[in-house]
Amino acid sequence: MKHWERRRRGVFIPPVLILLLALAALPAGYLLIRSAGSGPAGMVSATPAPGGDRPGEHALTASGIPCTLTQLEEGAVHTGDLLLVNNQILYHFPEEQLLTSIYEGKTGSYYVRDKEVYIAPPALEALNRMLDDFRAQGGSKTVNVVAGYRTEAFQQHLFDQSVARNGREHAEEFVAQPGGSEHHTGLVVDFSLFYEDGTSAEYQGTGEYAWINGNCQNYGWVVRYKKAKEPLTGIGDEPWHFRYVGVPHAAVMTEKGLCLEEYTDYLKEFPFDGQHLAVDWGGERFEIWYCAGTAAYLPDSGDYTVSGNNVDGIVVTCKIG
Ligand SMILES: [Zn+2]
Repeated sequence: MKHWERRRRGVFIPPVLILLLALAALPAGYLLIRSAGSGPAGMVSATPAPGGDRPGEHALTASGIPCTLTQLEEGAVHTGDLLLVNNQILYHFPEEQLLTSIYEGKTGSYYVRDKEVYIAPPALEALNRMLDDFRAQGGSKTVNVVAGYRTEAFQQHLFDQSVARNGREHAEEFVAQPGGSEHHTGLVVDFSLFYEDGTSAEYQGTGEYAWINGNCQNYGWVVRYKKAKEPLTGIGDEPWHFRYVGVPHAAVMTEKGLCLEEYTDYLKEFPFDGQHLAVDWGGERFEIWYCAGTAAYLPDSGDYTVSGNNVDGIVVTCKIG
């Protein structure tokens, strides 16, 4: 079960029950990160608002999807595949975060540094498919995942280490501050290369690996940091750092040449009561809209995902055909 998205197919299962079922069935290799506080976070629960913005109001989207205005819990803005995290927009550490060990769940198409590299389960699925396809089209087994999820404490350690080695100014320029690293989301991997003879090298996304950097969007991944976007992201070229945003968003970002900072703004051009973003991708059609705040129009049925942008609202992605 994926508790950061809610899918309805006929029978509605309350998110709390989904979480309980997921916990009961948590196999080895999974990690549930808990922070202080209580109650399940990272979930989008549909409870009527006590007054406020016309909760329960019904409306149809342009393509005729019946929706209901639903008051989501506060954490909804800070949960989901489309979170923007940088040194200005910090990650809101949820009370619980479901992660999986890449080592336990990976295919034989690549390596991972050790058993302690964790990512979110849908990101691992997408990573497996991408690197299986890379191998199938002739790629070598040399990709080594050297980083995934990072705790706030580990990012603090990296930052302090950089300050000690190169001074604070250098650290502030090159190392994300604790809370400012995308790695906190569990939606990020860093690649390195590992050769049969035991040597390793930095991953540059060139040569045979250009296939990965050129096709990752088809698997829901984007090359997050490119030189040209440094003024917006604050981070220089990092061809080894991949961010999972899901489909079809990765394809739209790539086609339009938008980094996540730009894409977050772009999606706001599609409010529920305005024109929606329609995307044909992979033989399927998606309708996408943005809702400011935590009151969001959600489809009454069908296959859809909900993600906060970590700034000010919610993005709904609905499969319509
Ligand atoms: Zn990275």
